[in-house]
Amino acid sequence: MEAVPASDRPQYDPTCYLCPGNTRAGGVRNPKYSSTFVFDNDFAALQKDSPTERIDIQQKGLLVAEGEPGACRVMCFSPRHDLTLSSMAASEIEQVIQAWTEQFTLLAAKPGIRHVQIFENRGEMMGASNPHPHCQIWGTHSIPQLPSRELVSQQEYFKTNHDCLFCDYIEIEAQESSRIVCRNDGFVTIVPFWAVWPFEVLLCSRRHLGSMPELNRAEVAHLAEALKHIVSIYDRVFGVPFPYSMGFHQTPSDGSPHPEWHFHAHFYPPLLRSATVRKFMVGFEMLGNPQRDITPELAAEKLRSLTDFK
Ligand SMILES: [Zn+2]
Ligand SMILES: [Zn+2]
Ligand SMILES: [Zn+2]
Repeated sequence: MEAVPASDRPQYDPTCYLCPGNTRAGGVRNPKYSSTFVFDNDFAALQKDSPTERIDIQQKGLLVAEGEPGACRVMCFSPRHDLTLSSMAASEIEQVIQAWTEQFTLLAAKPGIRHVQIFENRGEMMGASNPHPHCQIWGTHSIPQLPSRELVSQQEYFKTNHDCLFCDYIEIEAQESSRIVCRNDGFVTIVPFWAVWPFEVLLCSRRHLGSMPELNRAEVAHLAEALKHIVSIYDRVFGVPFPYSMGFHQTPSDGSPHPEWHFHAHFYPPLLRSATVRKFMVGFEMLGNPQRDITPELAAEKLRSLTDFK
């Protein structure tokens, strides 16, 4: 059985490569940072000078390889080793959003970077190698598969309906209300109609906008509140820091205008029945379709029932 992750961590861990003042692999020493801290990943999966050359082995279009130049950064949310998005103050999360916005702007402006992916893996179950609160930011030369499919869907919907796919979807969910977990003036958190992970949620801006630099001051505060809220609810589901992968899907930075794109985030948590029993995408799910273990309406009801704060 997998061990339940410990939540009583020290504020500073001398062996943590992300804590302020500590030395990382390769000998670089972190500054004594007091808010957020960003650095290039010491083991970057993407390199800025990789060739973009396309190789088609035997010219049959069957074995095609292409270089993927890009950048991989790591961002610490806080100097505190023991905090998480649920235990940080909303004002501290606003500083994280500010830093995400700066990184998005910087990377999206680089020639050859067409997509910026901000994502957080939380918990050993999701392969997070270090509990220090942090995320990764990858800038890639190509738009990856999932945002690329979302781009096509949003563009087709926009062309056909002269309206935004997400704006229309959010309106339907607001009328139905059974899959809404929580909302504030700027953001709405929904267990989507198509959810396959047990407590999967979609976090959408209520105003039509494409990326973080378009958020106004009030919306930054609303996003901070929405993030803190959903992770706090998650931590109550089984009484442990809830493992998940989360990430933001923002306007591609491919040089084209994207009036169809709607800013949102996905949370994919694997836990199903307890702190140690997770969902596996295996069998029919690998070979056919993902299967649902609980309905999105039941998942939303459970998450709503854990909202006795705010
Ligand atoms: Zn640390
Ligand atoms: Zn929209
Ligand atoms: Zn998305």
